[in-house]
Amino acid sequence: MINLILIGAPGSGKGTQANFIKRDFNIAHISTGDMFRENITNNTELGLEAKKYMDKGDLVPDEITVNMISERLKQDDCKTGFMLDGFPRTIEQAKSLDEMLKSLNIKLTAVLNLKADDAEVLKRLLSRGRSDDNEKTIKNRLNIFKNQSEPILEHYQDKTKVIDVISQGLPNDIYANIEKSLKEI
Ligand code: AMP
Repeated sequence: MINLILIGAPGSGKGTQANFIKRDFNIAHISTGDMFRENITNNTELGLEAKKYMDKGDLVPDEITVNMISERLKQDDCKTGFMLDGFPRTIEQAKSLDEMLKSLNIKLTAVLNLKADDAEVLKRLLSRGRSDDNEKTIKNRLNIFKNQSEPILEHYQDKTKVIDVISQGLPNDIYANIEKSLKEI
């Protein structure tokens, strides 16, 4: 069983690689971005609140995000392994996750760190065409990633295995490296 965290800048290929991993490792794929978007589509209260932040490229407040994940991790499909995609994104979220996992008696297997340079990331985001993918919000999201999310890697350095993956080039080639690393765990 593997319990993974995927970390990477917006446009680093997290979603694409998560789909390959899900296909081969049969684990629950938990994407906070997807969960928020689903709530927006269904016009829920949570969706309306999250949208205010997402439209600007800001982070949805930790309390809302942490509560949503805390409920999600209790669901049955997580018992055979999961992959967190887009969470945690702040040190506060990482600390809350530590507590949650401790109380559920779950151990993290690894953190997968997808690395792509700014030019590659921008190219991918601008070709994706999602409603929050305009130049202004992209800049904001990349800054937030560097200032708030990247420091999470240090938080995990002495707690679990951190696997660095160069996420440049063809999705299948990037995945071949990921698959190899995960099979070696
Ligand atoms: P993503 O699909 O991962 O690119 O996320 C899209 C947007 O959802 C982000 O720009 C944030 O506004 C929000 N979001 C997703 N995950 C989180 C999180 N862990 N904490 C706060 N906001 C988040």
